[in-house]
Amino acid sequence: MEKTIVVASTNAGKIREFRQMLEPEGYKVISLAELPDPVEPEEIGTTFQENAVLKAKAVTDRYGLTAIADDSGLCVAALNEEPGIHSARWMGHETPYSIKNQKLIELVRDAADRTCHYACAIAWTAPGKEPVVFFDTWYGEIAKEPRGENGFGYDPIFYLPERGITSAELDPEEKNRISHRAKALRKLEEWLHENR
Ligand code: IMP
Repeated sequence: MEKTIVVASTNAGKIREFRQMLEPEGYKVISLAELPDPVEPEEIGTTFQENAVLKAKAVTDRYGLTAIADDSGLCVAALNEEPGIHSARWMGHETPYSIKNQKLIELVRDAADRTCHYACAIAWTAPGKEPVVFFDTWYGEIAKEPRGENGFGYDPIFYLPERGITSAELDPEEKNRISHRAKALRKLEEWLHENR
């Protein structure tokens, strides 16, 4: 029997990725936007994992449906792992990434360590079940200048030293195979396959 799973997001790109992955596994994927009075809980957790669970659980509690949600961000070593869980709202939600990215470059200008990583947590929740969380990372460095048009957010300054390019210069399909989100998604996929 087909099982319904809600992706606790209204982001069309995220929904598409989850749909491509879960439909072949026999799931009907619906987005938060398809439900009446969608809930958007405040992200008050202190970790990616906690925030992912908060988002998924809000949907399961309200509609009694299985849900998944992700929470991700960019952690910069020289900035005490900031912006981290604050990545989307860092310097304000409405501030363009061109400005946020210039600011990050400036903040690490004199740092000996330019390492950073993307992190992604994906939570799965269902009525009467304990939440399950999958987590992964993708390491790089803060670039000396923004480069590339692909991707989104911090990608123009996420430099991959082994490739000599930023993640905004990567082919999108390749990014979708090697990114923090891709790796966490694969873990969810394997778990769903085993626990179907
Ligand atoms: P979320 O939607 O609350 O999980 O926030 C994720 C935020 O982290 C995004 O708005 C970006 O600022 C940042 N982020 C996460 N993953 C990526 C990525 O793959 N590329 C660029 N920025 C990312």
